[in-house]
Amino acid sequence: MSPSIYLDHHATTPVDPRVLEAMLPYFTEEFGNASSRTHAYGLRAAAALEDARERIAAAIGAADPGEIVFTSGTTESDNLALQGVARAGRARRSHLVTTRIEHHAVLDPCRALEAEGFSVSYLSVDAQGTLDPADVAAALSERTALVSVAAANGEVGGVQPLTEIAALCRERGVLLHSDAAQAIGRIDFDVRAAGVDLCAFCAHKIYGPKGVGALYVRSGRPRVRIAPLLHGGGQERGLRSGTLPVPLIVGFARALEICRDELASESARLRELRERLWTQLQAVGGAHRNGPAAPRLPGNLNVSFEGIDAVAVLTELEGIALSTGSACASGRSEPSHVLAALGVPPALARGAIRFGIGRGNTPEEIDTAAQRIAEAVRAHRRQRRGGAQAGVGGAI
Ligand SMILES: *Cc1c(COP(=O)(O)O)cnc(C)c1O
Repeated sequence: MSPSIYLDHHATTPVDPRVLEAMLPYFTEEFGNASSRTHAYGLRAAAALEDARERIAAAIGAADPGEIVFTSGTTESDNLALQGVARAGRARRSHLVTTRIEHHAVLDPCRALEAEGFSVSYLSVDAQGTLDPADVAAALSERTALVSVAAANGEVGGVQPLTEIAALCRERGVLLHSDAAQAIGRIDFDVRAAGVDLCAFCAHKIYGPKGVGALYVRSGRPRVRIAPLLHGGGQERGLRSGTLPVPLIVGFARALEICRDELASESARLRELRERLWTQLQAVGGAHRNGPAAPRLPGNLNVSFEGIDAVAVLTELEGIALSTGSACASGRSEPSHVLAALGVPPALARGAIRFGIGRGNTPEEIDTAAQRIAEAVRAHRRQRRGGAQAGVGGAI
């Protein structure tokens, strides 16, 4: 049986039919290359591209459409921000600051930069996953090029105090980048209000297509200098060469606008569903909520069940799509680095299930899922106890 209740909206989301509808003409009739300046096909593609750029800039509170650089997704945007800023300023500044709970799209480029000779400070967070701005201040030096802090965490849903972090970075003349893949479209997020200099996000987390993202790069002074990762046709002011996927970008803009227009009602609805789910899961017993009560992504819940192996439970649980953590991290089948950083003991980290409630979910689905999970957790616990008593349990 294929999954019929989808509760993994932090990994990806379905394309909203309204987004698909906006994209369709750009796959067929309006297929021009936005860099073709000598005919109407190209000019119309360029017009659609620039229209989408303006709408995306407006939706995230950017001052100017030129601050949006299109990429293939958040991973590329994070890499462009981190490696691009680090390499452009290599001569004077060779230090970066980030946190232990970043996505691998931030942590792994940091590792790559360390191999090139940069140094990186990985800051700890508290038991709720919140970063203390004072720790950022303490980590900054004359050599610091960039601070990178995700606006919201995709595993435990915590929202960081970016505005305070941005203020102290600005004071010290250090750039701030934020991975906002989980924040933009889900919470009220504005790049100027947050005070970030760079910001990465993508379409497939907000009911848009896979394969397109953006890096916001603040214009004005002090100038943000970036060394490109890709060299070629010079698109995106030379920051990201390659033919732009106009259909995906048109969909990206529409997806973002829908999220913005429905944000207030949708986040209230998701918060309600989340609390409904948590109330029912608590009744199972031995359930612990990971991450903060607030501020938190409205559709996010992360629960550790005592005495279970979450991977085994989820594999058994047919018909409900859930994960133990970030899709990329779970592929590695290592315990979650995010839960470890929050100080969750290994046995409870192994029993953690991440819930990502989203646009299509109904109260009935939440009730069905809660009931099925409760049954699966109880059955798994019984099986483990039985196995232990019979002396055949290997996984205790
Ligand atoms: C999903 C995600 C990414 C990776 O985004 P892609 O567009 O799939 O490359 C990076 N950071 C965070 C916080 C994410 O949630």
